[in-house]
Amino acid sequence: MNELPSADVIVIGAGMAGLTAARELGRAGITTLVLDKGRAPGGRMATRTIGSARFDHGAQHFSARSEPFQAHVDELRREGIVGSWYTADSRTRPGLLGEPRLVGVGGMRRIPEHLAVGLDVRTSTTIDRLHRDGVGITVTAAGARVAYGAAVILTPPVPQVLDLLQTSDMVPATDVLDPLSAVGYNSSLAVMATLDAPSGLPEGHLAEPAPDVAWMADNQHKGTSAQPSVTIHSTAGFASANLDADPDRWTQHVADQVAPILEARIISAVGHRWRYAEPRTTFDSGAITIGHAPPIVMAGEVFAGAKVEGAYLSGLAAADSVLELL
Ligand SMILES: Cc1cc2nc3c(=O)[nH]c(=O)nc-3n(C[C@H](O)[C@H](O)[C@H](O)COP(=O)(O)OP(=O)(O)OC[C@H]3O[C@@H](n4cnc5c(N)ncnc54)[C@H](O)[C@@H]3O)c2cc1C
Repeated sequence: MNELPSADVIVIGAGMAGLTAARELGRAGITTLVLDKGRAPGGRMATRTIGSARFDHGAQHFSARSEPFQAHVDELRREGIVGSWYTADSRTRPGLLGEPRLVGVGGMRRIPEHLAVGLDVRTSTTIDRLHRDGVGITVTAAGARVAYGAAVILTPPVPQVLDLLQTSDMVPATDVLDPLSAVGYNSSLAVMATLDAPSGLPEGHLAEPAPDVAWMADNQHKGTSAQPSVTIHSTAGFASANLDADPDRWTQHVADQVAPILEARIISAVGHRWRYAEPRTTFDSGAITIGHAPPIVMAGEVFAGAKVEGAYLSGLAAADSVLELL
């Protein structure tokens, strides 16, 4: 008799991929326990409140191109969880014109929060080891056993999963390990700046407005914040050069670069570091099985073309894989 919290499937990571997998499994009558190291669900679909301002400081918006994701987004639109921010022609798909840029109503985190309703999601739990335990798997956090399941789905960024597998003496075979080890990620330094007046940004966003800045978005224009505020994302090059530097220095530097563009004064600026912002290479497998008995499945945006939509599709694929194996 196991006294630990247990479920059919332990899902590590409460981002889009993990929550989608857990919901799909729930529909099939499979119980899940979702564990995340963050303080709230969402992962890189993140919204934060600082003083009276709110910021989307991870994913800014998303598109829905595949049939399954479009159907899901339509449902979320009907429920008032997703809305359109603006439309733009696709930069990666020539001919795709006037595509809606979708957002969570009131902030990107609204979407994962909605997905988490009805699921058993436990936050502030950093999983540091997996143990094969009889027919299932026990997971530990801070050295203590925290949960037991018949299968595990792993959704953190690939380098973090590989570290976890290594610590757990579960390193995959070379044909699986080599391509995974080669996955690199662009980093991003996000600066959340509270303003004393509306930003004046045309259309509420601007790409490459300054040498070290890739993107700037007006959270008030987007409907995320009542107080004027902007989120500023550094270029990947600036992020990789400053990732481990003093955050006060790069926060100030990035804020100073955009200050002349704004029609308002920055009254405070807070930095957030995304070490694994976006993968530079992706796979199209949906999810991969790295253990059969007990089942261990890896998922996340990298396995289905990246971005929010890729994370959703990977979550669906992970649920399918586990259902086949259980
Ligand atoms: C700055 C930035 C801008 C972006 N812009 C866009 C955009 O405009 N459009 C778009 O579509 N996408 C964008 N993205 C990418 C998008 O956010 C991601 O592709 C998507 O959210 C990934 O979801 P996921 O579930 O695969 O991973 P994540 O959201 O990263 O979820 C993984 C979860 O695992 C948790 N975790 C990690 N390690 C552990 C552990 N040991 N124990 C427990 N939990 C753990 C993490 O806390 C996290 O919640 C952006 C991302 C960033 C960072």
